[in-house]
Amino acid sequence: MGGEKGIIFDIKEFAVYDGPGIRTTVFMKGCPLRCRWCHNPEGLSKEPQMLTPKEGPPRLSGREWDAGELAGRLLKDRDFYDMSGGGVTFSGGEPLWQWPFVREVVSRLEGVHTAVETSGHVPDDVFEEAMNAFNLVIMDIKTMDEKTHRAFTGSGNALALSHARALCDGDTPFIIRLPLIPGVNDSLENMEAVADLLEGAKKLLRVEMLPYHQTAGAKHKMAGLVYDPGFDTFRDPRARIEPFELLGIPVKTL
Ligand code: SF4
Repeated sequence: MGGEKGIIFDIKEFAVYDGPGIRTTVFMKGCPLRCRWCHNPEGLSKEPQMLTPKEGPPRLSGREWDAGELAGRLLKDRDFYDMSGGGVTFSGGEPLWQWPFVREVVSRLEGVHTAVETSGHVPDDVFEEAMNAFNLVIMDIKTMDEKTHRAFTGSGNALALSHARALCDGDTPFIIRLPLIPGVNDSLENMEAVADLLEGAKKLLRVEMLPYHQTAGAKHKMAGLVYDPGFDTFRDPRARIEPFELLGIPVKTL
């Protein structure tokens, strides 16, 4: 036990969408972005907070763990990981925002397949270390357009795109995730720009598309936040897979 401390708001067992096999996904608190479609608003603040659901009593989201305690908890499911070719995934929030803690937990999971789901919106040195520490990186690209990125996430996309390029040039297996937001990033033009960026990447396993869905609104309310998406939440987003197919990049819609 002991070591670095981190704040976690959920641990999900038997996760099947966060990398290969059966996995345990750890949701870390805190994110530097403010995506207007965020499905995990309880992951935005770094601190534990009260959630007030529409029905039922308020509950606390987030508590402090130490690295040894979490590693011990995760290793209890080792048989499931081994049997299914699975492992552990760190998600959030932005898990690399608590990098010293996550790094220590990963170092205690020797022999377990590890993955991270990241926005890429973290300092260069942290991203580089993470690329070397994990067996799989799952990274979002929200939009290739800087102005749109700023308007819908609160920050520019230069950092994330430079890290996407580092993945394309590197040796770590990776998946690119595209949240599909109607009228924001689901244009053919945006998909073509993403496909151009990924062309020729040796370790790219596939692109995964995640269509927006409306549960985000209720979760914002529960976390005491105003939900102001700024796009048409009733229109289905378009999954334009043609630019990826043209380049032979596998695409999966989740
Ligand atoms: S990066 Fe993820 S967790 Fe952070 S605000 Fe965007 S959708 Fe939410």
